[in-house]
Amino acid sequence: MIDFHCHLDLYPNPHEIVRRSQEREMYILSVTTTPSAWSGTFALATEVPRIFTALGLHPQIAFERKSEIRLFEHLVSDVQFVGEVGLDGSPEFKRYWNDQVLVFSRILDVCEAVGGRILSIHSRRAAAATIDLLEKRSKVSSPILHWFSGSANELKRAISLGYWFSVGPAMLMSEKGRILVSHMPRNRVLTESDGPFVQVSGRSAFPWDVAGVVNSLASIWKQPIHSVEATLLDNMRSLISISGCRSNPNNGSGTANYA
Ligand code: MN
Repeated sequence: MIDFHCHLDLYPNPHEIVRRSQEREMYILSVTTTPSAWSGTFALATEVPRIFTALGLHPQIAFERKSEIRLFEHLVSDVQFVGEVGLDGSPEFKRYWNDQVLVFSRILDVCEAVGGRILSIHSRRAAAATIDLLEKRSKVSSPILHWFSGSANELKRAISLGYWFSVGPAMLMSEKGRILVSHMPRNRVLTESDGPFVQVSGRSAFPWDVAGVVNSLASIWKQPIHSVEATLLDNMRSLISISGCRSNPNNGSGTANYA
């Protein structure tokens, strides 16, 4: 199973979540919300194969953490994965829009300069603006639009630009979300939990809740679960190889190879 967008560091018991994910041999993209959280989050899984730690600066806190962009620039050469980054156009964050654009633009410029980074991108109520900023930087190698909730036309645009998508339990709860998922190219879809933020059955989602997402994909794609799982694994491997990732997810070296 693959959870390609999870906030391991924000669970009350992250070591326990890591251990239980390890028992299930899960692949996890462990995203962060600030550059200062990166080293502690990386330390959670230094010895753990299949857990990749991403360097992030979340759009919802960009206004108060924009000074950490320097730390981001300092750390980016040590990481293969970047996230959570992006834009949030919801009413409560729109007032900080200029800061969000400044931070996300700078992050994209830096990623374009270093090359080969895989980005997990937030675009709530900001799909068009997010795609606009990405499109101007065509050398940013592999953007993944996490929890995509834009329009059908915005989805078409993202598909034509070659972007990837990570799909979680919250997206699949709505008819609109399921229709969007049905239009995503199957060879560019990954699963995610977005735990612990997302709620599943009245509690925080765990990485292994992606099992429910796999079931939903099986019904949307009209494929057996085992072939959906095989497709998702192929997708993750091709994403990582396209981006020239230095850490091979098959060799058990996990995050230890990034630095
Ligand atoms: Mn998230």
